[in-house]
Amino acid sequence: MVLSDVFGHAEFRPGQTEVIRSILAGGPTVAVLPTGAGKSLCYQLPGLLFGGTTLVISPLIALMRDQVQALRKAGVQAASFDSAQSHEERRVAEDDFVAGKLHFLYVSPERLSNQWFLDMLSRASTTISLVAIDEAHCVARWGHDFRPDYMNIDKFLEWLQPQQTAAFTATATPELRDELGEALGFKNPDVFVRGFLRDNIKIETRKMNSDDARNTEAVRLIKNRDGDAPALVYAGTRRACEELVDDLARQGLRAAFYHGGCDGESRAIVQDQFIDNELDALIATNAFGMGIDKPDIRLLIHLHLPRSFEDYYQEFGRAGRDGKASSAVMLWRGKDYRTHDFLIKQSDDGAAPDPRHVDASMRRLSRVYDWAQSSVCSWRRVLDYFGDPDVSEIAEGCGQCCRCARSLNNPPQAVSGKQFEVAHTIVKSIALSNIKYGRKKNAAILCGSRAATIPQCAVGHGALKGQTLVAVEEVIQALLDAGYLAVTGSEYPVIDITSKAKSVLDDDGEIMLSLDSVVPQTSGAVDANLAAIIKEWRDAKAKEMGVPAYRIFSNKVLEQIASRAPENESELLKVPGIGPAKAEEFGYELLEAMKAVIL
Ligand SMILES: [Zn+2]
Repeated sequence: MVLSDVFGHAEFRPGQTEVIRSILAGGPTVAVLPTGAGKSLCYQLPGLLFGGTTLVISPLIALMRDQVQALRKAGVQAASFDSAQSHEERRVAEDDFVAGKLHFLYVSPERLSNQWFLDMLSRASTTISLVAIDEAHCVARWGHDFRPDYMNIDKFLEWLQPQQTAAFTATATPELRDELGEALGFKNPDVFVRGFLRDNIKIETRKMNSDDARNTEAVRLIKNRDGDAPALVYAGTRRACEELVDDLARQGLRAAFYHGGCDGESRAIVQDQFIDNELDALIATNAFGMGIDKPDIRLLIHLHLPRSFEDYYQEFGRAGRDGKASSAVMLWRGKDYRTHDFLIKQSDDGAAPDPRHVDASMRRLSRVYDWAQSSVCSWRRVLDYFGDPDVSEIAEGCGQCCRCARSLNNPPQAVSGKQFEVAHTIVKSIALSNIKYGRKKNAAILCGSRAATIPQCAVGHGALKGQTLVAVEEVIQALLDAGYLAVTGSEYPVIDITSKAKSVLDDDGEIMLSLDSVVPQTSGAVDANLAAIIKEWRDAKAKEMGVPAYRIFSNKVLEQIASRAPENESELLKVPGIGPAKAEEFGYELLEAMKAVIL
């Protein structure tokens, strides 16, 4: 009744009913619902049914104002306290609240420690029936969106003693859900996660060989996209945004960029052009998108690996809001990982960043990197990550992402010969080791890396010497995908064996892998990843010194370096074409550049 009369909806969306029931039943509730799944209805409906005033804590002024407007339009009394309003607006809101006229009051978290605000709450003739905390993941101290004021919410709630409390977020891993319940002082909350599957969005991930290749592919996709709406492209750097705009313009396509370096005026113009379909594509950094609700984006491209799974989901989730068929394509490269790694360890003001922050950011990055390499159904991985129970519905795959399409043509087969040897060695070493490591470290150990961060006495150290890191990582991935290995712990992800692997080890069983990506290399093969890094370093160095690239190292020498992957100066000196003078001049920098790949 209230649903159709006030909110104009005929029925609930997936997940809403459970959350609303829990709030009405009276226990503290944590709801993880993706943007667009109708989060606000989950507290607005119970709020109206409870009577009194519902207090909504939200850090986003634009969204608060939108909500207040929407409620007023539906005939519900609502107001907000935010820094963007006039004195007059605030006075009216205060009077209405104290007189008990407001059903909903939206406030920013900073307000909660403000004495004037607390006094006003004490004076009011209304009861606070429900406190709803939006964007509750802002309590996570080492998260992207940490807001110190969120840490005071628990004290505020203890002081206020509202009848009912509920927290909402669009993004929370199972660990974070526990953390936020605790930080807010919720006792045994009911937790709901639903609605992450958006089956109108076809997910594709493609690993690209060069920056040129990914721009060329992006241009082709944009040219051939469906519908009138512009494509939305997320790029990792400002420079990448501008370069793609140039490439598109050369093809006669209308494109614009949007990033942290654009001033307010040009941002507003570009945003309008985007909404009015006056562009073929908008190329943006993650500065773009907050509050943008364009329903008909048919093509969404990630030009780089995103920095976290949360960002990735939120960004590609802007495609197909109207429910019609849309695509989300990620054109990534292995070096994107290193770019993020570098940026995470930098800080804006020159001071060393907090190591706990670096640690948390690196963990998030490694989760999205793991996923990019995987060949398991993309949607399955997404739902797994967020802990959405609907994952059981697509246990066999969503049937439409690029990985599902590939696995149909490439069913798992028993591996033999060298491939079996490599796969077996990996499983056995991980099984025998008491300490478990992540993917990259396992690969580095098995390849016998002598880097300082690699434990030299680890089980299996050097057991696969002669294989490249990339090849070993790929086999680890294939073993993960096939269920012989599993990642455990989403905050500190490490790899362990599964019962399926135990039976291989105990009974000398076969190992069945999808061979698509499994190509173990013999000693001396060139690691393409490493080769690209070395070449990149050489070209940059040549540019810096203003000399032709071959004067640093010829292509032939580069190939030799890549195939031998030297890890210290004495190994470097064994590479044909590198004498003491070159080793002295470039050795340190070159080895540093390579370390990023080898670790
Ligand atoms: Zn799939």
